[in-house]
Amino acid sequence: MRIELNDISLSFQPGTPFAVKALDGVSLAVRPGERLGIAGSTGSGKSTLLGVMAGILRPAAGRVLHDGQALSRKTRLRPGRIGLGLQSPENCLFEKTVFDDVAFAPRRMGLEGELLGRRVMWALGCVGLDAAAYASREPFSLSVGEQRRVALAGVIAPEPEVLLLDEPTAYLDPATRRDLLGRLLAMNGERGTTMVVVGHDMDELAVFAERLVIMDDGRVAIDGPADKLLKDEALLERYGLEAPGTVALCRLLSSCAGREVAAVLDEEEAANLLQGIIGRGPGG
Ligand code: ADP
Repeated sequence: MRIELNDISLSFQPGTPFAVKALDGVSLAVRPGERLGIAGSTGSGKSTLLGVMAGILRPAAGRVLHDGQALSRKTRLRPGRIGLGLQSPENCLFEKTVFDDVAFAPRRMGLEGELLGRRVMWALGCVGLDAAAYASREPFSLSVGEQRRVALAGVIAPEPEVLLLDEPTAYLDPATRRDLLGRLLAMNGERGTTMVVVGHDMDELAVFAERLVIMDDGRVAIDGPADKLLKDEALLERYGLEAPGTVALCRLLSSCAGREVAAVLDEEEAANLLQGIIGRGPGG
């Protein structure tokens, strides 16, 4: 599914003294199967942008198109095509069991019986939860990290063509973060799921994103290939973002080696560079 935003502006509480312009003339197209990362400082409009892409926030000006069809106030969105994972997904858990929570959207799409069961188990597996152990648990008896996974499973369960995820790895431990990123990459690779992920961690975006958009004050400030932009420390700093660890390491190696060491994003490549410059350990 192709999502297109044309000159979108959106204010919260317009016409009041508390009016906030969250998006200001944003134009952006997300291609089918693309992995787009969205970064930017707090309040720059990232979450609002996801809501507009999903069609749940309707802008005051500009057009949102899903597969070339402009959304209007009357457009009814087809369930299951776009999955929107919000910043506090645990607030979206409302059923008595994990199974029912994850099954909510697939049921609305008409799935039942064994097919429904298999879909729920698959979605729980995607977020790394042991379905047999979790399916009958009460969502509110789970840790925040587990709740976030259950909520994400609920977003994934309808097998949407597009996943719009707002900081999906927040509050997860490092091993779980890596695991989840790997699973999202696999969904993109195997199913061609389009992914738009808002993230604060540039190391994660380096692993995940092929294209990067940096938001600033409600506008698209930068839009380009992630592997190029994420190596540009000065540019990232300008927007309050910290470069990936491998890029910072290459800068340190440059001063160590007394020559320019080109920045890399791949951790293994960075480790090889490090070995090459400082030697292979004691006696190496
Ligand atoms: P980000 O996700 O980059 O942190 P948001 O899209 O959440 O930014 O917010 C953009 C701006 O809109 C911020 O100034 C924020 O305070 C404001 N905003 C977001 N949601 C609301 C709301 N429901 N009511 C009023 N202002 C809001």
